[in-house]
Amino acid sequence: MAQDLARDRWKLVDSAEFADVYVINSCTVTAEADRQTRQAVRRALRQNPQAHVIVTGCYAQNQADACAEIPGVSLVLGNDHKHAVARFARNLKKPERPNDAAIQIDRLTGLPPALLDGFDSRSRAFVQVQQGCDQSCTFCVIHRARGPSRSYDEAHILRQIGNFVNAGFCEVVICGVDLGSYVTADALDGSGPALTSLLKKIAQLPGAFRIRLSSIDPVHLTDDLLAVLSDPDRFCPYLHVSIQSGSTLILKRMKRRYDREFLKDRLDAARQHIEGLVLGADVMAGFPTESEQDFADTVDIIDHSQVIYPHVFSFSARPGTPAARIPRQVPKTERRRRAAILRTTGETNRRLALQRMVGSTGRLIVERPDAVAKSNAYHGRLANYMPVRLEDPEKASASEVGVEIHGVSEEVLVARVSPSE
Ligand code: SF4
Repeated sequence: MAQDLARDRWKLVDSAEFADVYVINSCTVTAEADRQTRQAVRRALRQNPQAHVIVTGCYAQNQADACAEIPGVSLVLGNDHKHAVARFARNLKKPERPNDAAIQIDRLTGLPPALLDGFDSRSRAFVQVQQGCDQSCTFCVIHRARGPSRSYDEAHILRQIGNFVNAGFCEVVICGVDLGSYVTADALDGSGPALTSLLKKIAQLPGAFRIRLSSIDPVHLTDDLLAVLSDPDRFCPYLHVSIQSGSTLILKRMKRRYDREFLKDRLDAARQHIEGLVLGADVMAGFPTESEQDFADTVDIIDHSQVIYPHVFSFSARPGTPAARIPRQVPKTERRRRAAILRTTGETNRRLALQRMVGSTGRLIVERPDAVAKSNAYHGRLANYMPVRLEDPEKASASEVGVEIHGVSEEVLVARVSPSE
């Protein structure tokens, strides 16, 4: 969207500044995300009460009428149109009545056509290879907000990554809503599932860069895929796995594609294949009917598999989903209590994992060369995603440097640039 606006000669300013048009890219994964969109609209109008406000993204796509009723919104733009936002921004009209915004929502079938030029950071580039999802997990509204699974053409992806590497990016993050369902005719060459085949081809591209996956469903963690990811010269030893629960019963009620045993087996297999693997995970607390035992099973998975970056959601009943209609909802306070326990379990794992890194060396991609020396500030991340603060950032002359780790402060590794750099 930023690229489209810049090409149309809009001047991009920080969201906290005065602007003529504010574009809010909304999320709807929880009720809290919906609330934050409404808050962002109010904040924008405080900067400039005369501004036009465009709300796009998943809340706009799923609840266009609710977005249009937010006072001051000029246009509600669906996910299929947002990459052409400049065209809509040119033709904005103020609603004739309050709460009467224009709505432009279509059935989701498209993929953004343009190649991206780059990102704010010059070190890490995000490459979307797949959009949408064909699953219908009972708690989720994202498959409705993003439409059915569609994959980018393989040649397009390879060209996009080649451009980024030539422009100096040292890391590419391969993104998708349901990444493992990536499929395209060009990729079906008989060498395994399409994502595996695509990753092999990306790994063969020339240039010095590392590859990270954004997140992956356990059902897609096949031995073939793990074998490809085990190449330490190309792939980051980090996986963010969409676990959700460790209880077979709850996974079934969520309509996930695996059970507890399968989940454990795949996480164990990932650890065997990928040396020094660090695990992050999406995990949910308090899904309807979740008993103390179901919850304990989830804590056990986080503990057993040594997940150090759990991204914990308290269950949020989304309108129109089957899970919202299940009679035995877990009380909100209990959901929050369980979420806090999951976060603490991850934190304990994390502290131990960070301590184990002391005395080792690694390659650091410098993302924030001027990070201030606050205790939790960091200059970049290692391939395993752990954050690092440099004691001598002035010596980091390139966007990727070797570092020697000698301590931990808060949740950040403390390191010096290797003398050989
Ligand atoms: S796989 Fe992910 S995006 Fe798809 S329905 Fe399930 S939770 Fe939603």
